[in-house]
Amino acid sequence: MRKPIIAGNWKMNKTAAEAVALINELKPLVLKSKPEVVICVPYTALWAAKDAIAGSKIKLGAENVAWADSGAFTGEISADMLIEAGVEFVIIGHSERRQYFGETDESVNMRLKQALKKGLKPIVCVGETLTEREKNKTKRVLKKQILDGFKDIAAEDFDNIVIAYEPVWAIGTGKTATAEDANKTIGYIRSLIKKTFGAEVAKNLRIQYGGSMKPSNAKELMAMRNIDGGLIGGAALKAGDFAAIVNYKD
Ligand code: PEP
Repeated sequence: MRKPIIAGNWKMNKTAAEAVALINELKPLVLKSKPEVVICVPYTALWAAKDAIAGSKIKLGAENVAWADSGAFTGEISADMLIEAGVEFVIIGHSERRQYFGETDESVNMRLKQALKKGLKPIVCVGETLTEREKNKTKRVLKKQILDGFKDIAAEDFDNIVIAYEPVWAIGTGKTATAEDANKTIGYIRSLIKKTFGAEVAKNLRIQYGGSMKPSNAKELMAMRNIDGGLIGGAALKAGDFAAIVNYKD
């Protein structure tokens, strides 16, 4: 059985003080959460969030990690810096990083290797754009993202990896893939993983759906056989909405 994992991606939202306020609101609402709960917060809020989540089941994540240990990489943040700030999970290859900041499957692969080397748990994002979908290129795009993004990754490393399937056209747009569609595409990702890394890895790997997931559609999405959780953007910024997704079963 794969334990569901619901992760919030706060993106570039919330100062440290605002983060503490949101966490304090969220904590009592997810006390009995069945899924694993993660919040990925901006770097400047990590230390405050680390203290604020103490005593709760909420785990801390970051939104990116550098591929190098340290050095001349202005604007980047190292795995050691994140770990010192209490980070356990890290998002890698989010579509906004790919779209606006030149992230490629190759840089995703380098960041992924570094995260694994340092003991961080990567949440690796893949997904097709609207144009790619309309041109029937979804499978081809996902195949490249998986094969290149996970190049030279060992089967045993997948114990610590989560994949988030996020169709880019569904992120922040209010448009959600239908549960059946998301399930089918995630099934395709699982089959790729099976072919490349083996049946055991594919069976145990948690694959989230992301893209306008909200309280009203979480239950339906989470009921799907291949969907093991959600990566939540907008709805993660409201304690009540995020908690309702976490508690989708209640
Ligand atoms: C995301 O940014 O990972 C995301 C899924 O955003 P939203 O839920 O707002 O679509």
